[in-house]
This record gives sequence, structure tokens and C-alpha cells, in this order.
Amino acid sequence: MSLSPEQQAEIDELRANPQPTLRVVAPGMEGHLYKARPVLDHGFVRVVDYMGDDAAICQAARVSYGKGTKSVQNDEGLIRYLMRHWHSTPFEMCELKLHVKLPVFVARQWIRHRTANVNEYSARYSILDREFYIPAPEHINAQSVVNNQGRGDVLEGEEAARVLEILKADSARCYDNYQTLIDADGVGLARELARMNLPANIYTQWYWKVDLHNLFHFLRLRADAHAQYEIRVYAEAICEMVSDWVPAAYKAFEDYRMGSVTMSAQMVDCLRRMLKGETVTQENAGMSAREWREFQEVIA
Ligand SMILES: Cc1cc2nc3c(=O)[nH]c(=O)nc-3n(C[C@H](O)[C@H](O)[C@H](O)COP(=O)(O)OP(=O)(O)OC[C@H]3O[C@@H](n4cnc5c(N)ncnc54)[C@H](O)[C@@H]3O)c2cc1C
Repeated sequence: MSLSPEQQAEIDELRANPQPTLRVVAPGMEGHLYKARPVLDHGFVRVVDYMGDDAAICQAARVSYGKGTKSVQNDEGLIRYLMRHWHSTPFEMCELKLHVKLPVFVARQWIRHRTANVNEYSARYSILDREFYIPAPEHINAQSVVNNQGRGDVLEGEEAARVLEILKADSARCYDNYQTLIDADGVGLARELARMNLPANIYTQWYWKVDLHNLFHFLRLRADAHAQYEIRVYAEAICEMVSDWVPAAYKAFEDYRMGSVTMSAQMVDCLRRMLKGETVTQENAGMSAREWREFQEVIA
């Protein structure tokens, strides 16, 4: 992970000078605050700030003027009820601000989540660092033959070596030319133009602030097994932080979102017929082949 010595010194200073506060403090999140957690070869996720905790969700749900919390059991029950019944606004009372360093092609997927606030490192103003994502050998796969949007078997030996060689050589050449373009002794091209020569595996950085409801939506999609590995590892790192921050809400999220399945009306009907002992097939189920396959995966 590439934190500069200056960045590390700033983080160390922040952690060495705690401030007394009247605000809500989530003990589990204090351990993550300011620390950069490595992701991929040069990336990281760092908690810059947070607001609220499990109790803040209950406080908002009860529209309380005091602490708003009751017994732990009572609060957990309420949080689970809210999650189960899509009563989402109390979760929006908690906020998380992250500093993320990520490859540009991951950022393109991430930025599709519109319900967050983002401020990205300016490559018009600053010169990007010579840092490229080069996958570890176990993450170099062939195109999947069953899923157009996915990976198949891991490439081995010479094939994998050739992929790595191409990625490294092209990244290096593009960066060398980027430097030549912006170099005042060379072309002296504006940074905002020179950056177009850089590949999508170069790293960028941003501050990303989101409320807990929309963060759960992001995590539901991006920590899922169907998400691309390179964004999933960021989502998984954030999941661990969130489980320490709001343990009751995270457990409800795991149970009612991550671990749950959605069934169509036809699927529910088929399931009922099966429970009554009827032999249900794709032909008499009223489902397409793909729906039927997905249904089989759910009940298998
Ligand atoms: C596995 C996977 C594959 C994908 N493949 C593709 C692909 O091939 N091509 C592609 O373009 N994208 C693709 N996406 C991106 C996907 O279509 C969504 O853009 C992305 O997941 C963000 O989801 P979202 O819009 O629900 O999130 P957010 O933008 O965070 O929005 C959250 C919710 O807020 C509401 N909302 C936000 N903004 C608006 C608005 N302007 N109008 C109405 N409602 C709004 C919606 O209810 C939305 O669900 C893929 C995503 C995943 C997870």
C-alpha cells in the first residue's frame, strides 16, 4: 500500500491527539478511524469520519428527544424490524466518510452509486503517481464461457506470464510518455490533456461520503459474489468496518439483504406446490429456462 511518509505522519498525529467530545462515539469504529486498510496492490480504504451508531438508528425511528434507546434486545429487535420492512430512513441518520485509493476502472463501477458525495483527486491540477494495478497471479483468469460478464479458469504458466508482461510493459510505457508530455523541458502539455494517455489500471483517490442506508445498498451489490473481484475486495473491507461500527444494523443487513433471496410470484407459487407434494417442472412452472435455473439455485 502506498501511503507517503507525510500521509502516515499526519495519520499518526491525528491518532495521538484524541479530543474529548459530547458526540456519539461508536467504540468499534474508533479502532478504524484514520487507519488506512490495504486493498489490492496499492489501494486502501481509510475511515476519515463517521456519525451515529446503532442507537442513533433507534433514536430516529422513535423520534426521541433523549437517547431514544431501550434495552439492547429491544433496540436490536427494532433495527431488525426496520430492515425487514424496508423502513430505511432511520438508517440514513448514520454517515460514513472514507478516503479510498482505487484503480480508475474500479472507480468507474463505484461512481455509478449516485447516492454518495464524492471528491476526487484532480489530475488536471496534480500529477498522478506511477502506480498501476497489476493483478496477483491467482486473479488472472480466462473469459468465462458461461457468463459473458465474468471470469473462468485461472490462467497458468506461460499464458499468465504473458498477461503480466503486457500489463506491466504497457503501464510503464504509458507513464513514461505521460511524463514526457507534461515535462516542461519536453512537450509541456497541460496535465488535463496528458492524462488521456494513461491506462484504466492507474490509481486515483477520492473522499466518499454516504449514509448507512445507501452504503448497505452499495455493499449488497458490490460485496456480492457476482461483483467483479477488484471492487468486491473494497466492499468486503468496508463490510468489516461497518460490522464493528453498527453491529446490530450490520447483522440485520446480513440476514435480510446479503443472505436473503428474492422470489417472483411464480417462484413462490411453485414452492407452495412443491411443499404440497406436486411434481413441478419448468414446463408447468410458467418460468423461462433462465428463471427456472435461478429458482433451482435458490432452493438447492
Ligand atoms: C453485477 C453488476 C453488473 C452491472 N453491469 C452494468 C452494465 O453492464 N452496464 C451499466 O451501465 N451498469 C452496470 N451496473 C451498474 C448498475 O446498473 C447500477 O448503475 C449500479 O449498481 C448502481 O446502482 P443504483 O443505481 O441502484 O445505485 P445508486 O445510484 O446509489 O442509487 C440508489 C437508489 O436510488 C435511486 N436513484 C438514485 N438516483 C436516481 C435517479 N436519478 N432516478 C431514479 N432513482 C434514482 C434508485 O432507487 C437506486 O436504486 C452493474 C452493477 C452490478 C452490481
